[in-house]
This record gives sequence, C-alpha cells and structure tokens, in this order.
Amino acid sequence: MVCHYGTDLKEMVEKVKRYTKDGQVANYIPALSKANPDDVGVAIFDGNDTCFSEGNHRHLFTLQSISKVLTLALALMDHGEDVVFSKVGMEPTGDPFNSIAKLESHVPSKPLNPMINAGALAVSSLIKGDTNEEKLERLLHFVRELSGNKQINFNQEVATSEFKTADLNRSLAYFMKQHGVISGDVDVLLDFYTKQCAIEVNCEDLAKIGYALAHHGEHPDKNYSIIPYEIARLVKTFMVTCGMYNASGEFAIRVGIPAKSGVSGGIVGAVPGGVGIGLYGPALDDKGNSIAGMKLLELLSAKYHLSIF
Ligand code: GLU
Repeated sequence: MVCHYGTDLKEMVEKVKRYTKDGQVANYIPALSKANPDDVGVAIFDGNDTCFSEGNHRHLFTLQSISKVLTLALALMDHGEDVVFSKVGMEPTGDPFNSIAKLESHVPSKPLNPMINAGALAVSSLIKGDTNEEKLERLLHFVRELSGNKQINFNQEVATSEFKTADLNRSLAYFMKQHGVISGDVDVLLDFYTKQCAIEVNCEDLAKIGYALAHHGEHPDKNYSIIPYEIARLVKTFMVTCGMYNASGEFAIRVGIPAKSGVSGGIVGAVPGGVGIGLYGPALDDKGNSIAGMKLLELLSAKYHLSIF
C-alpha cells in the first residue's frame, strides 16, 4: 500500500470535524461529560517505529466499551471457549448496548454476546485473580503489553463516577446473578468493571492495540504472541458482528474493518494482516459511536481499500 497517511490524515481530520456538531458527549457517566465535543484525533500503526497521527491524538481518554474486547481475549486465555461461551452467546442483538430486554425474553437467560454490557459483565466476572486488584493488574499488564506502553493505568475519577451511577449495569448484573450466569458480590464485579472501562489510553496506544489484534496478537517488537491466533480471530469476528453497537451492520457495509467503539468516543480498528487504527472523537451519535470517528474510518477505508469484504 502506498502510504500518504501523513498528509491525508490532516485533510481527513479537517473534513470530519464539522460532524462533531451533530453529536453529543456521553453524560450518563458524569465524568465523561467534561470531554471537549470538538476534539478529533487519529493514529495509524503499520508495525514500524512511528504512528501516523493527527488532531488530538495525544489526548487521554478511557477505553469504556473498547475494554470489552480485551477482557474477552483475557477470559478466553484464562478459561477457554467452552467456559466463556457457557456464560455468554455469540449473536448480535440489534438492541442498545445497555438493554436488559433480551435477558428476559431469551432462554436460557444468558447475554447474547460479550460486546453488550450484560455480556461484558459476565465476561469480566471470569477474569482470574483472587482480588479485584490482582484482576486489574493482570488486565493492565495485558493492555500495556499490547500497546507497548508501560505507563497505561486507569482513571480513578472516571471509575468512581461510573460506579456511583451504574444502576442500570447493576440491575443487569443482579438479573444475571438470579439466573446463575454470574456469582459473587455484584458491587465487587461493578468495581472491577468500572475500573476496566476507565483504563486510559491515547490514539497511538489504541492503534498499537489494534495492530496486535490485526496480527493475531503478535507485536512487532516482541518475539512471541500476546494473544493466541485462534482467540485473536474470534475477538475480531465479534468486532465485526457486534463491535459498533446496533450500528454494526451498517458499519460493516460502509467501512468493513473489525472495530470496537466506546462511549468515551474512542474506536479501535484492526485491519486483518494490516494496520491498527486508534480514533478519538467524544461527540457521539444516537447509538453511542463517535460521529467524526465513524466518518473518518469511512474515508480511510475507501481511500486505502481497507474493507475486509
Ligand atoms: N462503562 C460504560 C457502560 O457500561 C461502557 C459503555 C460503552 O462504552 O459502550 O455503560
């Protein structure tokens, strides 16, 4: 691929900035409402030393739902497919990410996939570790390895802000506890989940994580695989079918890159065998996806033929 990312990215960021006016910053987690809705940042990592980046690419933001991809990989590494998929299904829902509806209407009452909140909570409950500190340290170690950034940590203010207001997630967890999908103390699970969602990265970290996923867990400066081949394949498939909330179908058609977004405005993209992409744009559309980030991915996919389809 002839690469003009440097100049193209500048133009593309300028072009998509105007869409931010049509979106809104998430405010159901109070700390997220402090984000600047005009921000747009992007980084692309192709496995060489530098990232191509533009806009607010150094700005730190929390992973939110992007963390679901990473906990899924870790839970699969911890327990294998049989255990994980006894707790969570493999089907897209077409419902908003925090919907409780299918938990009640679907029999057996397990969440339909690991990318919706109910499914992510079930997956988080599987992460190995005697205490939440131990579980979080394992997850942080994993994220630091994938991104090559040892400084990565979680943002306590965002975690606390979500923990205090996470009543909908609590109700999903209580529902699943009643139906035997999870066990243990719900608030202990919520404490871990809100911290996992509050792990803080910038676009470059995210681009490197995307690259590692795109290359079956292999990192260019490591001589071993961080995620087993089969697990990386499985996780990328979920990114295609459920990664962009209930806009995943349209996203597959318009963009066609395995990707996962979060309500902080981050999106990670993993082009199989190709580049990793990290985006930030906190103004969200009505489904919870970064409005400028989606547009930017559409432009990138068209220009560099990145669609896998
Ligand atoms: N922490 C957020 C929640 O559970 C994540 C949602 C998201 O990014 O989609 O509501």
